[in-house]
Amino acid sequence: MSRRIIPVADIRTLPPKPAAGPARTPSGAVFDALARPLRDLRISVTDRCNFRCVYCMPRSVFDKNYPFLPHSALLSLEEIERLARLFVALGVTKIRLTGGEPLLRKNIEFLIERLAALRTPSGEPLDLTLTTNGSLLARKARALRDAGLTRVTVSLDALDDALFRRMNDADFAVADVLDGIAAAHAVGLAPLKVNMVVKRGTNDGEIVPLARHFRGTGVALRFIEYMDVGTSNGWNMTEVLPSAEVVARIAEHWPLVPLEAHSAAETAQRWGYADGAGEIGAISSVTRAFCGDCTRARLSTEGKLYLCLFASMGYDLRALVRNGATDAELTGAIAQVWEGRADRYSQLRGSAQAPASADERRIEMSYIGG
Ligand code: SAM
Ligand code: SF4
Ligand code: SF4
Repeated sequence: MSRRIIPVADIRTLPPKPAAGPARTPSGAVFDALARPLRDLRISVTDRCNFRCVYCMPRSVFDKNYPFLPHSALLSLEEIERLARLFVALGVTKIRLTGGEPLLRKNIEFLIERLAALRTPSGEPLDLTLTTNGSLLARKARALRDAGLTRVTVSLDALDDALFRRMNDADFAVADVLDGIAAAHAVGLAPLKVNMVVKRGTNDGEIVPLARHFRGTGVALRFIEYMDVGTSNGWNMTEVLPSAEVVARIAEHWPLVPLEAHSAAETAQRWGYADGAGEIGAISSVTRAFCGDCTRARLSTEGKLYLCLFASMGYDLRALVRNGATDAELTGAIAQVWEGRADRYSQLRGSAQAPASADERRIEMSYIGG
């Protein structure tokens, strides 16, 4: 008989906090308790995925008995668009679609078309992007671009096919993802970014081969420290390879020069190849907390608003939407929730001030989408 590991807590089953606040007209900006504005919104469009990455959706937990959300629980694409519009009126300028695997969501192109038509209070289009495992990108790149997507981030943890298949644990070939990246490039989705999660002892041998592969191609390769998200990946600090070490390994082959951040809220530290062959980035979520500049809100597949990747509670916007709340009531609720935000988990990680709940009740990455 095969053994199943049950997650310590399925955070989705805990009662959400009701979101509420007096009705408001949007002011164009809203600040949290630590004076951080609301600027970015990550929207998870599905909790399902065709991969079973070992660090995100381990097969032992996300097996055929796993209770994925029923379709009726999901925000409809129209509900997502409505909420996104209200977030934009409160200051959001960047929206990232994620999941699960966002390209599995039916009619995602329709949502992209609607989001691409939104304008900030000063009349600018949004910075609209999507993070994907790349497996369906070769097929969908053109339709996504035609719908109004301008850029895309693809996750890729190894070039070695056998290792890649082990890491995605669903027997997807690395060639499929490379084809997807090539298709995105060909239709002009730019700038293209590739994210590699580095797990010490698993795929750190792929750092230099991936850097070599993408040098000089216009693709920005970014290394993400393996994070303690959720409760099912069995995270252990010994498996984290600090970004400083990643950068040092690359610099042994190709000298690097530090680059300026595009903005304070940028999560990646950037380096350029001294010979002009492009840039790399490092997202040091574990060793260099960037909570002080964190302007990100997250909307889950079923319409809960989360204030931090490591939050243990979401605010139920879907209930308000489905109970007939007006735009002003929804705006008031979102603004009030954001104004109460004091989350800074990465800064407090391991310290006495870390919230006790953070250890055992955290949302899974596949549910909230990174
Ligand atoms: N399925 C899409 C993908 O893989 O790009 C989008 C969702 S995925 C949850 C978003 C990002 O989170 C991916 O780049 C993935 O590599 C990253 N991720 C997932 N689990 C992680 C972990 N434990 N530590 C660091 N990054 C993680
Ligand atoms: Fe799926 Fe992305 Fe998680 Fe991998 S990282 S299991 S592709 S959601
Ligand atoms: Fe933002 Fe939370 Fe990550 Fe800090 S730990 S950077 S507050 S999401």
